[in-house]
Amino acid sequence: MTSELLEVTPPPDFKPRLWTPQRVQFTPAALESPWGRQIYQRVEALGIPIEELTQNRLTGLRGGDARETYNRAKRTLAVVNAAPGALKLQPIPPSADWQFHLAEGCPAHCQYCYLAGSLAGPPVIRVFANLPEILDNLPRYETPGAGRNEAAGTTFEASCYTDPLSLEHLTGSLVETIRWFGTREHAYLRYTTKFDAVEPLLDLPHNGHTRCRASVNADPVARKLEGGVPPVAARLSALRRLALPRNEGGGGYPIGLVIAPIMPVDDWEAHYGRLLDDAQAAVGFAEDVTFELITHRFTPGSKDVLLSWYPKTSLEMTEEMRVEKRNKFGGVKYVYPPEMMKSLKRFFQAEITRRFPSGRILYWT
Ligand code: SF4
Repeated sequence: MTSELLEVTPPPDFKPRLWTPQRVQFTPAALESPWGRQIYQRVEALGIPIEELTQNRLTGLRGGDARETYNRAKRTLAVVNAAPGALKLQPIPPSADWQFHLAEGCPAHCQYCYLAGSLAGPPVIRVFANLPEILDNLPRYETPGAGRNEAAGTTFEASCYTDPLSLEHLTGSLVETIRWFGTREHAYLRYTTKFDAVEPLLDLPHNGHTRCRASVNADPVARKLEGGVPPVAARLSALRRLALPRNEGGGGYPIGLVIAPIMPVDDWEAHYGRLLDDAQAAVGFAEDVTFELITHRFTPGSKDVLLSWYPKTSLEMTEEMRVEKRNKFGGVKYVYPPEMMKSLKRFFQAEITRRFPSGRILYWT
């Protein structure tokens, strides 16, 4: 696996895996906006059936049971305007200063998906047609000086409710957003993806204001629990293309690795050690690489939703094997016991520092 990562340019027959929705719905409001209409043209050119709704409410997403609703919603792309409330941004520590959204929902099928605990209702993939309004709103939050995880300005996270690269061929919204951040003096974009179709991003005038991160995991976790996404090797290879300098055919971006959710599966040191070896082979040359390390956790609500979506999952969600952690609003989540957390943290800190001397671990949680 390692040697194929050293390939800079994908072979001529290389085709990244792109998601094709079964149905695409447009609300009337979305069709009125120029960005919505350019999404319409992209979808039409791909020959995907389009439904033009007569009202701004999505319909026909529910099936007879949770599983059928899941299947129907996960195959549906809805093009809508983000609600006015979306323009009031929320902070998102420890990842960034603020979160904003190009879309909500994701076409992949990860059995631990964190969206199960954060988005309510059928998991339809909504993309936002009022992108210009969403971007025009950001300067209100932009301040000069040190922001979270960046030295020079305010950081904005675009992956809280979606995987933006997974939808890029249908929307063009990530490319537009990267271009927009490239023109800003004090604003920095961060996004995370499990997808690998990075070619449209390579030539953009990003001006160093976008950090591209790949979400990766140890082989047994990725193989058993992630569905509808490219293999980890393909994600690392894509990250390499993004990080390589322009004169070597790459995108010249600052990059990062999000290792999540970390799980102490059997033989976890060996599996995560191999993941870090592969990451080093792919992007060890990069001077500006960050790491975000997130252990697995679940809440009573996310467990219920995930079990309704994936009733046969092998994902461990046993309360007795975890410790309870309460947030300031009294909400409960289940995390690994302190001793396990300490061993995991020690391992990742030592093994990352050894392989990436100039890498920065942004947070452990
Ligand atoms: S790629 Fe991320 S958002 Fe999409 S299903 Fe997997 S965990 Fe959820």
